[in-house]
Amino acid sequence: MNGIVLKTTGSWYTVLGENNSYYSCKLRGKIRLKEGKTTNPVTVGDRVNIDVEPDNRTGNITEVFERKNYIIRRSSNLSREAHVIAANVDRAILVATIAFPTTHTEFIDRYLATAEAYRIPATIVFNKIDLYKASETDELNRFLNIYNQLYPCLTVSAITGAGMDGLRNLLYGQVTLISGNSGVGKSTLINAIDPDLKLKTASISDYHLKGKHTTTFSEMFALSGGGFVIDTPGIKGFGIVDMKRDEVFHFFPEIFFAAKSCQFYNCIHIHEPGCAVVKAVQDGIISESRFKSYVSIVSDTASKYR
Ligand code: GDP
Ligand code: ZN
Repeated sequence: MNGIVLKTTGSWYTVLGENNSYYSCKLRGKIRLKEGKTTNPVTVGDRVNIDVEPDNRTGNITEVFERKNYIIRRSSNLSREAHVIAANVDRAILVATIAFPTTHTEFIDRYLATAEAYRIPATIVFNKIDLYKASETDELNRFLNIYNQLYPCLTVSAITGAGMDGLRNLLYGQVTLISGNSGVGKSTLINAIDPDLKLKTASISDYHLKGKHTTTFSEMFALSGGGFVIDTPGIKGFGIVDMKRDEVFHFFPEIFFAAKSCQFYNCIHIHEPGCAVVKAVQDGIISESRFKSYVSIVSDTASKYR
């Protein structure tokens, strides 16, 4: 039977079969050996084939179908071993808040650039709009001015329900990775979408897992309305992705667009003469904060190879 992996804990995998039943599965030995560099050959979101045991509750994963994409995490830049956190992701949602807590533009931009590198469509969900006073609403509008023309943006309140229909529509029938700083309301939003899930809010688990990447397991939840969300406790964003210095601009759509008019083909778009990106920033066409994030990522790639 075919199914989808919802959870991995040690050597056991929770698989949702196409008959809508859950199975606890182990891996057949052969699959375990196939993929070399990652610590886990099967991850949440993997589409698999299972042999169900006569008890009708357990089974063996006999085949992992080809992935459309997958997200990996390494514990550091230098680490060779990678952990696959999720596979077959249709959309990445970043939950951001203007206040309580503040989400910084550079954090948002790094997330968006990484989603671009993975070719996963990203959406920003600004939560807690019920709490914003005039100055925070101004700030929200400043953010929307920057991001609305680049990525779909939603403004919601998990508490009042404002804007939640838009989020519900976005999740329907899709596999969605939900990320964001701790406290922005990820669990509350998922619970508001599907009260049956009863995710722990202000999750105690997050607290225990802080700084221990290796013990962090992602988990996928089937929404009763259709679709899946992936929650990655203790992981704020995507983590580190290899970007070459001269390709970072590919992951900022507006910089990529402006760069077509640069004078030099090998322009890095920071201070070269005739750089159309720098001009677009000066002309107010590209936002200064986006450009700052771009420069910051480029300088990271430079220091990595030193
Ligand atoms: P997570 O760490 O991202 O999963 O955040 P939680 O879902 O645990 O939420 C953190 C806190 O923010 C909780 O106390 C929630 O009740 C609160 N919260 C979440 N969403 C909203 C919202 O839209 N408005 C308000 N006022 N509080 C919210
Ligand atoms: Zn340039």
